[in-house]
Amino acid sequence: MSKETAGNTVYRKNYSPYPWRLLQAKFRFEIDAETTRVFTEMELEPGGGHSKAADIELDGQDMELVRVALNGRALEPGEFTCDAERLVVHGAKAGGRLEIESLIHPQNNTALEGLYPSGKFLLTQCEAEGFRKIAYFPDRPDVMTRYDVTLVADRSRFPVLLSNGNPVESGELDDGRHWVRWVDPFAKPSYLFALVAGDLACVEDHFTTRSGREVALRIYVEHENFDKCSHAMESLIHSMKWDEDRFGLEYDLDIYNIVATNDFNMGAMENKSLNIFNSKYVLASPDTATDADYQGIEGVIGHEYFHNWTGNRVTCQDWFQLTLKEGLTVFRDQEFSSDMHSRAVKRIQDVRDLRSRQFPEDSGPMAHPIRPDKYKEISNFYTMTVYQKGAEVIRMYHTLLGEDGFQAGMRLYFERHDGAAVTCDDFLAAMADANGVDLELFSRWYAQSGTPELSARGDYDQAACRFTLQLSQKTPPTYDQPEKKPLLIPVSMGLLTRSGEALPLALEGEEGHPETRVIILDREEKSFVFNNVPEHPVPSLLRDFSAPVKLDYPYSNADLALLMAHDRNAFTRWEAAQTLAQREILANVERRAKNQALQLDPALVPAFSALLDDMETDPALIAEALSLPGEEYLAEMMPVIDVDGIHAARKFVKSSLANTLEKPLFDRYRSLLSPGPYDKSPASMARRSLRNVCLSYLMETAAGIGCANEQFATSDNMTDSLAALRGLVWSGAPSAAAALDTFENRWQHDALVMDKWFAIQASVPGPGTVGRVAELVRHPAFSIRNPNKVRSVIGVFALMNPTAFHASDGSGYRLHADKVIELDALNPQVAARMAGAYNAWTRYDDRRRELMKSQLSRIAATTGLSGDVSEIIHNALGME
Ligand SMILES: [Zn+2]
Repeated sequence: MSKETAGNTVYRKNYSPYPWRLLQAKFRFEIDAETTRVFTEMELEPGGGHSKAADIELDGQDMELVRVALNGRALEPGEFTCDAERLVVHGAKAGGRLEIESLIHPQNNTALEGLYPSGKFLLTQCEAEGFRKIAYFPDRPDVMTRYDVTLVADRSRFPVLLSNGNPVESGELDDGRHWVRWVDPFAKPSYLFALVAGDLACVEDHFTTRSGREVALRIYVEHENFDKCSHAMESLIHSMKWDEDRFGLEYDLDIYNIVATNDFNMGAMENKSLNIFNSKYVLASPDTATDADYQGIEGVIGHEYFHNWTGNRVTCQDWFQLTLKEGLTVFRDQEFSSDMHSRAVKRIQDVRDLRSRQFPEDSGPMAHPIRPDKYKEISNFYTMTVYQKGAEVIRMYHTLLGEDGFQAGMRLYFERHDGAAVTCDDFLAAMADANGVDLELFSRWYAQSGTPELSARGDYDQAACRFTLQLSQKTPPTYDQPEKKPLLIPVSMGLLTRSGEALPLALEGEEGHPETRVIILDREEKSFVFNNVPEHPVPSLLRDFSAPVKLDYPYSNADLALLMAHDRNAFTRWEAAQTLAQREILANVERRAKNQALQLDPALVPAFSALLDDMETDPALIAEALSLPGEEYLAEMMPVIDVDGIHAARKFVKSSLANTLEKPLFDRYRSLLSPGPYDKSPASMARRSLRNVCLSYLMETAAGIGCANEQFATSDNMTDSLAALRGLVWSGAPSAAAALDTFENRWQHDALVMDKWFAIQASVPGPGTVGRVAELVRHPAFSIRNPNKVRSVIGVFALMNPTAFHASDGSGYRLHADKVIELDALNPQVAARMAGAYNAWTRYDDRRRELMKSQLSRIAATTGLSGDVSEIIHNALGME
């Protein structure tokens, strides 16, 4: 095995190929919720790295071994060994046919990894290392083979039996059981295996690929959700069409199945032709799903579908390469959503997410490059860094090479590696070779963690009409890497006159005069000299956020107001508004800390007022520009996080703007009332998003509660009623309790809507929420076994509600630590996510540090703590 362990740490440098070639794998599952009997048959022959005396090592956990046979002969004790982690067949020499019979107990599986129950059915989750809880097998992504799977189960209890590939045979047994045989013609690694057995309803449609293949599309859900699949189905069809049009990639089988479950550790899983989804990313109707849910469904359906090529056809050599499939596929789903809706709004939302969730990862104890060099539990590395920063790295290839160059690289990548398990280096080589460029320096993005700081300074020479832009970079040391090297940073930019005109960009010795261009910083410092610049310009930098860095340029507030009003790039206009607001909030955090009166710079008012008067721009973009920077991102800007100061200053700025601009806010709010019944067109979604941002400002004024009461009572869709409910609950309106009751009574039967009801209450700012959360976890609709419920209550409270979690008496930490310990015994993966709430603990004041440290130590001292939580907690404590 390549999984060489040293104190359970796995190192990338220790990779070695599996010494056996797996020619085929056949399985027979006799399915039962109590005990499922698994018959495994593998054809093995010596492969690369094989030695004559080689043992056959197979992973296996939480199973009972019944029988092992090699080439038809049952093995005696001594010819194999079996422990809690693996089965080893000794002296197998030439290999042959290995048969194994084993037992698993799905009913007891609360970790939701392997084969487990959900509602009235059983299902699997294998990525990253769940298949070893299903069968003894080389459970690593570089062992790819064809799967032939027969599922046998009681027909009345398990009428639907699904696995990967195509169903080729089926039949009945005398004892009331039936069987279906599935054969997947494509070789795949074990993490892409799936089976589903149970009583499910099926919604069916079809898609014809551009080369004429007829594909049956089926979504399986629990019967009561039969009418909530149309948006997911439409999204699937759009995804299939888009991947043909934009990437030239077609679907390769006759069936595409999706199964939705309420019990899932993640968003969704791209198992070959049998995707399994958290029901949150499938089920939608206007009265139960918000616009954000609709967009989330489209994005995740697309993401899993796109994996069929980027992940399944070409997969990862080892789990260190996870970003090879995830960064690339996130980039593809971002592009899909951008092509379907507003590109600028999508970009803004992705950057907001990156800054509030990935930047803190880079500055915390779990900092790692997008391709990590070591891990203890791979499930802890399904991170914002691997996914979202990974997608930013792919986006930089696209920025550097252009759409045509990027697509040429993709074609070469598939030409070289289809059907193989490869590395990030192979992807980079395909991009470089297809374009005849050297990407050696660019490869540092894979190896280096941390968020680079890009500093820009401008110098204008009036006499020579010359503007010099000096760029420099520095990546601060991170927890995992003290030394940093300069990176290759593409900077998309333009220059504006004081009246907001775009200037042509003529670098020295150049003819071309585009209004936007990409300049490359490929060392610590570099200067760019622009000629024929008639006046001191305002540079517009990092257009479309062309690199995942923190930018520093000494803009005056007047510069920012100019960019906000006139820049050609929508992202940079939004960014200018954010920077203005951020300055204003941070200045007030400082005033508050010095016991000075808070104040609003009057210059901010006309800039925000202009946004409300703007009837030309997409309302969704205006909504983004009006939304103040989040508390997590503001915290990222402070050396010592002043959690109460940030909240108070942000609320002050919002409230001051709202009260100064009450009339225009109210008028715009009224004008955006939908003229007809609900529809999910992008234009209607954009109106609702701006209307609800206006409402959130109005909640700071006397008019707010009346607006929210009316909106809650009259809305015909979840987006508007949820926004109104949040407004009422957050502002402590007298009607809030009654509104929560009305909502609960109406939706208590719907698990996904109840998640929203929980989340709103867990998100109310302030220490009072600690007591509320303690009540919510005892509510009959809450279950600590259900990850969506855990995320809605404990996740929202601990990861997204700083003033409650960091209550100064430590009550938030105590409650949270209790829940992490309780959850860890059931579901270590989800417990580890929750445990990440302490990651920035060293950046708070002394009192909070002490309080957090004592809870970290308490969790660390828990008997039987899982490896998942242990890795997070010990990294946080810095005592690896
Ligand atoms: Zn993915």
